[in-house]
Amino acid sequence: MLRTKTDELSAQVRRTLVATLYAQPSSLAIGAFNGIASSAIAAWVAGVPELYAGCILLTVIAIARVFAAFELATKERAISTRKLELVWEIGAFSYALILGVITALTIVHQTATAVQVLMVANAVCYGVGICARDAGRPGIAFGQLVLVFAPLMAAALVIGTIPFITLFVTMALLIPAMWSITLSVYKILQNSIAAAENSARMADSMRDLARTDVVTGLANRAGLNHAMVESMMAIEPGAHAAVFWVDLDRFKEVNDLLGHPAGDQVLCEVGQRLREVAPEGSTVARFGGDEFVLYCPIEGRKHAEMLASEIHIEIMRPVRLDNSRLDVRASVGVALMPEDAEDIDTLMQRADVALYHAKVAGRSQTSFYAPSMNRHLVRRREIEGELRAALLRDELSIFFQPLVDLETGKIRAFEALVRWFHPEKGEMRPDEFIPVAEESGVIVTLGNWITAQAARTAAQWPEHVSVAVNLSPLQIRAPGAALGIRNALREAGLDPKRLELEVTESLFIEDNHSTAEFIDELASIGVRFALDDFGTGYSSLGYINSFPFSKIKIDRSFVSGPNVGKKSEAIIRAVAEMGSTLDMEIVAEGIETPEQVKLMREAGCTLGQGYHFSRPVPDYLAAMLLAQEADEGVPVRKAS
Ligand code: C2E
Ligand code: CA
Ligand code: CA
Repeated sequence: MLRTKTDELSAQVRRTLVATLYAQPSSLAIGAFNGIASSAIAAWVAGVPELYAGCILLTVIAIARVFAAFELATKERAISTRKLELVWEIGAFSYALILGVITALTIVHQTATAVQVLMVANAVCYGVGICARDAGRPGIAFGQLVLVFAPLMAAALVIGTIPFITLFVTMALLIPAMWSITLSVYKILQNSIAAAENSARMADSMRDLARTDVVTGLANRAGLNHAMVESMMAIEPGAHAAVFWVDLDRFKEVNDLLGHPAGDQVLCEVGQRLREVAPEGSTVARFGGDEFVLYCPIEGRKHAEMLASEIHIEIMRPVRLDNSRLDVRASVGVALMPEDAEDIDTLMQRADVALYHAKVAGRSQTSFYAPSMNRHLVRRREIEGELRAALLRDELSIFFQPLVDLETGKIRAFEALVRWFHPEKGEMRPDEFIPVAEESGVIVTLGNWITAQAARTAAQWPEHVSVAVNLSPLQIRAPGAALGIRNALREAGLDPKRLELEVTESLFIEDNHSTAEFIDELASIGVRFALDDFGTGYSSLGYINSFPFSKIKIDRSFVSGPNVGKKSEAIIRAVAEMGSTLDMEIVAEGIETPEQVKLMREAGCTLGQGYHFSRPVPDYLAAMLLAQEADEGVPVRKAS
């Protein structure tokens, strides 16, 4: 591994060194012009035919070299290092040799002294200069020096006079001197090029690292951005692309219950599965936490829909951990290009909006972006922000609505219903802000506050009147949920038997261990449970059997409204009958008229709740209703 890296590095360094030969082809042209001009003058002054021939040969080589150098310098990247080096070598060696031979001829032919001086000076300057210029390939540089010097030195020996012998000796000494200079220039060049290559390589690997998610090895946010920008540049007009934004449902629980190493294992597995379903040309990235993004070219919406369902299928396959299996679910938001967005930022933002909707719509599903989602989202985000502030600013309060005994007309309990009076927007409906509170997690704080508040108020009421508090599933699954309720009871000094918790069927859809524990723990100290909104969900009688409910609250859609008729009456009768056998109370919700009171009582309901008896009222009015009842013995509203 290390070896191949250094080999690669030295190949790259060598390439750069060879490229230095081709740098500045103009200097080559100037040198060539010099050589040609001098040898032409020498031939003309001396009138020796061999010199003319030499001059012509030199000119041809020089022109070919300059031409080749300019040509190769422009498309250097496409040519192999060896070829570049060879072309240079052939040109340089033949040029040096011919120049050396021409100079030797001027000496051997004993031409005019000025001609000899001109050519000797030219040859020596060339030899020395070329050693510096071509030091990047010392072999070539030295070869040129030797080739230009050798004929000249031989001629000097042939003439054999003292000045020429001295010239011979000088040149002979110059060869090793130039060799060592060339070598040291080469070393310096090589080291600095290697250092530059090395730091470029380091920068590359740092950049790769900065674009990779450590846990899964997938791209991270920066990596995805980079890949998207690259693909945008290469994308053909009219081509489709999609972003699938995948968010694992309740991943936090995996981390909390099984620990972070298990959490990481799940993330890796999910990342791997996404990679498997990703079409060619996709980028799979992980964004901090439990969010993944798949960006890919697609054929159209149908293709995207297919991919989305494949993603769900893959993710839903149980994940094997050391000694257990884990079911993972995910919510997916999808946005398409060019249908939903024309640039990357908008595409991502729209996929995010779609994801948000998938989560709101009940998780474990896919949402494709639609323009209406934006308005909805803005409103929800607004509420989310203001809800936290509302808790601190005391804008929330609790109203109480009586549950009346349909036989005696007496108040048996009050249901606590949260109210939010917004200083600017007026009253906000719980149907609107409770789901937001659930989604953002504020429900845990809010729910604890409501329970504590309701328990404190109920502690002031007569012993026989209890209080009912609505609990949302999320609140129950939060760690320490049961403890929060026990604390509220203790602080208020309320007997647990006087607290009733209203839960809906949605709580039982997911078979959850913590739910059963929560219910068992509180039931054991006397807290009672009511099944709320019965008839709107699955209405499975299974839960009624396995959990200790003391009440079933029949949803108001069975009591009043357009769908009420013989069928709903029959259902109520059946439920009421079951209730009396199992010793449970049956509450009819939403009673608005005396006729409904009669009907519900006849159908077998034991308790009633609704505007007919009272709207939800603030605590002091609830206390007044109780006081009235105690003083006068008069029911809230005659049960007719
Ligand atoms: P819910 O638990 O079914 O509460 C009963 C809802 O019916 C209340 O609406 C109440 O005002 C309304 N209602 C009562 N009698 C009548 C009637 O005769 N006719 C009609 N049309 N409506 C009647 P509200 O207060 O707007 O609450 C709506 C829902 O919000 C509740 O439904 C409950 O699911 C949720 N909610 C309210 N307060 C809380 C709370 O403190 N915690 C939680 N987790 N959820 C709450
Ligand atoms: Ca309720
Ligand atoms: Ca209800």
